[in-house]
Amino acid sequence: MQRSGTALVTGGSRGIGQAVALRLAGDGHDVAFCSRARDAAAEETIKLLAETGARALHVACDVTDAQAVRDFAAAAERELGPVTALVTSAGITRDKPLALLGPGDWDAVLQTNLTGVYHACRSVLRGMLSRRAGAIVTLSSTVGVQGNVGQTAYAATKAGIIGLTKSLAKEVAGYGIRVNAVAPGFIDTDMTAAMSEAARTASVARIGLGRFGTTAAVAEAVAYLVSERAGYVTGQVLQVDGGLSL
Ligand code: NAP
Repeated sequence: MQRSGTALVTGGSRGIGQAVALRLAGDGHDVAFCSRARDAAAEETIKLLAETGARALHVACDVTDAQAVRDFAAAAERELGPVTALVTSAGITRDKPLALLGPGDWDAVLQTNLTGVYHACRSVLRGMLSRRAGAIVTLSSTVGVQGNVGQTAYAATKAGIIGLTKSLAKEVAGYGIRVNAVAPGFIDTDMTAAMSEAARTASVARIGLGRFGTTAAVAEAVAYLVSERAGYVTGQVLQVDGGLSL
């Protein structure tokens, strides 16, 4: 298959990021992805990527570390070629009522979920600007639009990502670079596996389609926004939530 460029995926070892990495590889991208450690999940993702015929690169990189993210992007360009697509999926939760949410938890969520996106965008923008082409997709959340009990820090980051996405889309549209967000609702991953059965049942009751979504459903939306099929779409927030936000 004709390769269609290099995709950089943060948080690509598990969950939504892994599904995105595999989907973009299937669409013809070579894929560089990061997670904090070269663990079993990263090894498994490398193996699955290789099975698609894509060239794959994993770099152990914490997105809170600006230099590490720059090094990750540089390694991707060196090994796989110019980055044509960036997907920022690395994210964490530290769910607590605000009254109990200490500054350590607040900072960890802000640094990973929001500052990490800033670092990732900066690491690829110079190249995309000089080539006057590129697509960036950020992972927001329904929670960033609607808020959620126990998720003030997480919601602040996911709302912040929407502001970052729309503002950056305006800044770089003139250079042919598109920037969009996908805002999933409840998706079956390690992140939601931590929910209690009662919380899960209550959440399902709020979803129009009556079930949690799959990582493949989110990856489908991301792949669309990366592709030329979305060549006239920028600055948008695509909610993939089974009707949760209706
Ligand atoms: P997940 O299954 O917990 O996977 C998170 C990924 O991010 C892993 O690969 C993890 O690897 C990586 N990661 C975490 N912290 C990192 C850091 N500091 N630096 C680099 N990599 C890091 O999460 P998910 O459910 O797939 O969520 C992916 C994204 O979608 C997140 O931004 C999340 O907020 C968003 N989202 C998820 C849902 C949902 O229902 N699951 C809904 C809405 C939005 P390591 O831990 O090994 O570093």
